[in-house]
Amino acid sequence: MVSPGKTGNPAGQAGNSAGGRPALKPIELPGAMSVKQLADSLRVTPVDIIKQLMRLGIMANINQIVDYQSAANVAASLGYEAHLKAESGRKAASAVKEMRKQQLDQNKQQVGLKSRPPIVTVMGHVDHGKTRLLDAIRRTNVVASEAGGITQHIGAYQVDINGQKITFLDTPGHQAFTAMRARGAQITDIAILVVAADDGVMPQTLEAIDHAKAAGVPIVVALNKIDKPEANPDRVKQQLAEAGLVVEEWGGDTICVPVSARENKGISDLLENILLVAEMEDLKGDPNRQASGVVLEAKLDKTKGPVATVLVHDGTLRVGEVIVIGTSWGRLKAMYSDSGKQIKKAGPSSPVEILGLNSVPPAGEILTAASSEQQAKAIIEKRMQEQEEASRAISLANLFEQLSAGKVKELAIILKTDVQGSIEPIKASLEQLSTDEVKVRVIRGSSGSITESDVLLAIASKGIIMGFNTDAEPGARHLAENEGISIRRYNVIYGMIDDVGKALKGMLAPVEVEVVEGRAEIIAIFPGAKGSKIGGVRILEGKAARGSSVRVFRKDKQINQTTIESLRRFKDDVREVAAGFEAGIVLKDFSDFQVGDVLQFFKIQQVA
Ligand code: GDP
Repeated sequence: MVSPGKTGNPAGQAGNSAGGRPALKPIELPGAMSVKQLADSLRVTPVDIIKQLMRLGIMANINQIVDYQSAANVAASLGYEAHLKAESGRKAASAVKEMRKQQLDQNKQQVGLKSRPPIVTVMGHVDHGKTRLLDAIRRTNVVASEAGGITQHIGAYQVDINGQKITFLDTPGHQAFTAMRARGAQITDIAILVVAADDGVMPQTLEAIDHAKAAGVPIVVALNKIDKPEANPDRVKQQLAEAGLVVEEWGGDTICVPVSARENKGISDLLENILLVAEMEDLKGDPNRQASGVVLEAKLDKTKGPVATVLVHDGTLRVGEVIVIGTSWGRLKAMYSDSGKQIKKAGPSSPVEILGLNSVPPAGEILTAASSEQQAKAIIEKRMQEQEEASRAISLANLFEQLSAGKVKELAIILKTDVQGSIEPIKASLEQLSTDEVKVRVIRGSSGSITESDVLLAIASKGIIMGFNTDAEPGARHLAENEGISIRRYNVIYGMIDDVGKALKGMLAPVEVEVVEGRAEIIAIFPGAKGSKIGGVRILEGKAARGSSVRVFRKDKQINQTTIESLRRFKDDVREVAAGFEAGIVLKDFSDFQVGDVLQFFKIQQVA
């Protein structure tokens, strides 16, 4: 979970908190977290969090899970502006494992299997008509119009074609598809590739093809915008063939259906073809088993509490059951279909909205039914432990420690260089450093800047990123900081080889990192000895401790950096003062305080 002081880049954190007035400091928090984790993230004690929660009317203990909204409220009272963290990476990886395990378990018992509706995702290049097509398909939904039309948007919907159902995921694009897949939610059975007949195969069309192929999901092409005079279906088919999708009429096996989302043409033909592919795929589910599924969307509703849209992947979900989603759980209070109808149960491939969870789960999280509240709590406890264990990313700094503990046998490196020509020689030199105990392996070597995709690969493979004469893109840097992924940059090849060599031997020199300890605001100024001034402060967050370093900020600008010389509460000298308290502070060689100045306290720590 979020732990700025522990894994990320503490120095980077320091920059953020340089507010003039006590400006809210941005912080990312996950969809759910324990009181302890929240305390770590906000650098206060769990008791502080429990107190704040009590003020909000929530009684909690240290291990209790709080939802994002409550956490955000607590954060706000401690001077933070919370943002919901886009969950990714390692957590996703454990979800992947879990989903796979569930699927394996299910495969073991093939009895009771029944056909289930296909789950379909729409992909393709921007502006090729994905959204319009999803709308057009939705409008053909006879069932929904009988039920009073589509009244709500829950992230997925079902259409009924002569008694056969198809479930559509309502978030078009392969980014969403891949994000889900990265979490282990391989829920898509069939991909519709929308290609505009006037525009043809474009970069994102090719990307979508790659993603669908990587997932082993069959593709049905919707050749859209055939109403346009510029439409040139043959040219598109040619381009598709070049991309490896040969349409049936040209002897291949790719189904290609001409449609016009705008004029509602070809839609039923497209749907029938999807059912055909689904039949060939022989998609099965077992309505008699306990439900498993995945969260598509979730939010906190003012009156209903946490509300999640879930796609039941297999089994049957029933009102009254105990369910666990990630680290959220609850007894299913009520359930609604995609058309807003209250229902008691939902079988395989059904999208439903559910009420009754104790907190808001993140999208992409896996749902499991539990047989009792006790079992639900046990599942969550185990998950949190696993998450904690998995959260130790590899870095050169901790490599030796992890090697010694027998935790790693391989150092996976993602190598980025400025020019293609440097990759091979550096790769060879690095891999030559392999010893009997540990293998050094460059798992990706490419030229260009360090991207988010490099960081994702590092997360997935517990690797480190090394850049030679190249820098990380801001998004990549941010993700790496959040996930504790180490990015090292060099402009001398020898330096890079040397560091890896030393890290393998546990000889890497310690690096200094800055740890922000707290923040205070000057609220009054008192005369001190020899014409100096004492700052009367209120500690806004964290703590102030004698001997700590201090930066003084005035209207967002740093005006001084020094250390704390003395710290007093009333008449007594004290070692430290915690958030919420007031104190008198004397700084070394600085006393030119003004009311409103903000002090930031920090320490330099050596990290091995
Ligand atoms: P997306 O980015 O792939 O979701 O594309 P949209 O569904 O937003 O469509 C992009 C534009 O193409 C919009 O202006 C649509 O009205 C238009 N469009 C979509 N489908 C058709 C179609 O079948 N024919 C025509 N002529 N325009 C279409």
